[in-house]
Amino acid sequence: MKILVINSGSSSLKFQVIDSETERVMAKGVCERIGIDGIFTYKTDSGTSVKEPVAMADHKQAVDTILKTLTDQERGVLEDFSQIDVIGHRLVHGGEKFTGSVVVTDEVIQAMTECNDLAPLHNPANLVGVDACRQLMPDTLMVGVFDTAFNQTMEPKAFLYGLPYQYYEQYKIRRYGFHGISHKYVSGRAAEFMGQDIKRVKTIVCHLGNGASICAVKYGKVVDNSMGFTPLEGLVMGTRCGDVDPGALEFLAKKENLDFQQVMTILNQESGVLGISKNLSSDFRELKDAQIKYNEKASLAREIFAYKVAKYVGSYAAAMNGVDNIVFTAGVGENDSEIREEICEYLGFLGIAIDEVMNREQSEAVKISTWDSKVNVLVIRTNEELEIAREAAAVARQVGSGKR
Ligand code: ADP
Repeated sequence: MKILVINSGSSSLKFQVIDSETERVMAKGVCERIGIDGIFTYKTDSGTSVKEPVAMADHKQAVDTILKTLTDQERGVLEDFSQIDVIGHRLVHGGEKFTGSVVVTDEVIQAMTECNDLAPLHNPANLVGVDACRQLMPDTLMVGVFDTAFNQTMEPKAFLYGLPYQYYEQYKIRRYGFHGISHKYVSGRAAEFMGQDIKRVKTIVCHLGNGASICAVKYGKVVDNSMGFTPLEGLVMGTRCGDVDPGALEFLAKKENLDFQQVMTILNQESGVLGISKNLSSDFRELKDAQIKYNEKASLAREIFAYKVAKYVGSYAAAMNGVDNIVFTAGVGENDSEIREEICEYLGFLGIAIDEVMNREQSEAVKISTWDSKVNVLVIRTNEELEIAREAAAVARQVGSGKR
């Protein structure tokens, strides 16, 4: 099957065409600055590479640009867009309603719209992408793959806050966890790489990118995830604060005379390693460069980040009563060997030892722990698009056909 994977944001739309049998990425690209001026980037596996301005007033025009390019005689990889069997949409928030991937129907769109206030920035933008595809390819099967679905196996003891229960009942205020598509792919790939049965291993995935989360996966099911009601909870991130005592926020708001919205902007956009480093950077590479030049705040930001990751890993080892695999992934997790080493130094009590040479290896999947380490430590490149394509193909097979 040929799967078109769509990740629609408010002003950008990323896409890939994946052959589900060979898992080959035939083409990929991104439409950026939709509704502004429009930039189209596109690459194929046969070497075509394009980056050009294309006016895209809305998401429908962006999808139209993608379809025209994919079927273009010179640049394309398909003869006709009817060759696309399924469209797999990355959808951010499925609330408690969606515990797995689903065929996108009017009812699903309605149910997702009801979750809009849980993810006001992401869900409406996802749905605009779905709508554009439905308008241009009304006969093609659409599958929604949710970032929250994999985390839906968390038990109430993990997902409930210590708040009055009626707020969960009335408003569904609880921890949802995010990055589920990445955590599912990476935990599965780790077991495959190690020759293990996913149903018999305990894995902690550290998805450390600009947004960062840690996930405890026991026997293939999520036990806990460091992100909560929103992706703000948990680790210190690029610009997000992670866990903070709400009492400190009231104190800050009073001192600086801020309203809720202003406080939230500080927590989401001005905090994390950016805020700790006094606005030096949210990019870990730049912080590392500054650290080498003895910038104390850059060192402190990286130190706090690593410490927090180690604390979560330790607590998740307790939550699962043991751990077999610890996996690093995403921009920082895949590329920053120093941060990995620093985190693992805290984890000596678990019997973890890192092989310094392997820790510097760059590949799709590598084991960086020593032969006698009590826990396997791995670095695995995440591949959310492939996971979406796999889910979309699986749903298509279940419903019997790629076409409606
Ligand atoms: P997101 O998808 O959340 O935007 P990514 O997973 O793409 O994030 O990660 C982006 C981050 O990865 C960047 O902010 C940068 O700090 C970090 N990063 C990328 N390459 C390196 C590297 N070689 N060394 C350290 N950090 C890196």
